[in-house]
Amino acid sequence: MQLVVLGSGTSVFHPRRASAGFWLQTESGSILLDCSADAPHRMAAENLNWMNLDAIWISHLHLDHCGGLAPFLFGLRHAPGIEQRTRPLKIFSCEGVEKLLRAIDESHNYKLFQQRFPVEIQEFLAGDEKPFEMIPGLKAETVPTPHRRESLAIRLINSNRKTIVYTSDTGYSEDVAEFSRGADLLILECSFYRDKPIATHLELAEAMRIAQIAEPRKLLLTHLYPEWDAVDLEAEAKKLWSGETIAARDGLRLEV
Ligand SMILES: [Zn+2]
Ligand SMILES: [Zn+2]
Repeated sequence: MQLVVLGSGTSVFHPRRASAGFWLQTESGSILLDCSADAPHRMAAENLNWMNLDAIWISHLHLDHCGGLAPFLFGLRHAPGIEQRTRPLKIFSCEGVEKLLRAIDESHNYKLFQQRFPVEIQEFLAGDEKPFEMIPGLKAETVPTPHRRESLAIRLINSNRKTIVYTSDTGYSEDVAEFSRGADLLILECSFYRDKPIATHLELAEAMRIAQIAEPRKLLLTHLYPEWDAVDLEAEAKKLWSGETIAARDGLRLEV
């Protein structure tokens, strides 16, 4: 599998960091993990085949994670060559995405769901841990994160047992750490360096405590607020955990 970082940033606009979005190319299709307002443009900028994207995961309803969903559906309607597409676009999400999309759709008759192909939404409640299949050969399960009532982390396992965990936004949680255990790639938020102003995000020491418990093969730290601009994140991380830590940056590609 190949992961492409579309957005390593947050809700704060930044010259080099778009807000959240990750493209995952698997053997059997492509998925998008979170869809900020920046994500559709970033997919185009990375020359990704966004028109044939198979599935989308939305972790929670903050707009730096889902604000691009309605514009993406709107843009798909007018994409050149979209008439040929027949296979469905599946949206898997936390609770509330369908309500949000329907409200936008009805506010101006955007026809977001009137596509040439089916758009299927499946929502998961926090605490509803039944596994599901995102695309053929890619199994998924979720766990609630202490961030918002609806927020979920996701664990993806392909047919070769390669595993990616994407926590999205989270406060410190040993459940999230256990859920991440042994991942080949752990995509973990690390919003702040130290003295975090809010309990529902992580600062570096907490992120690295999660890494110590989870022991992923590779750790990708993302959701980086502008205060990280002045800090060598990877060097600071190394002091707290000896494993491989990578600071996310837009355009980074990782093989898993
Ligand atoms: Zn966020
Ligand atoms: Zn958030």
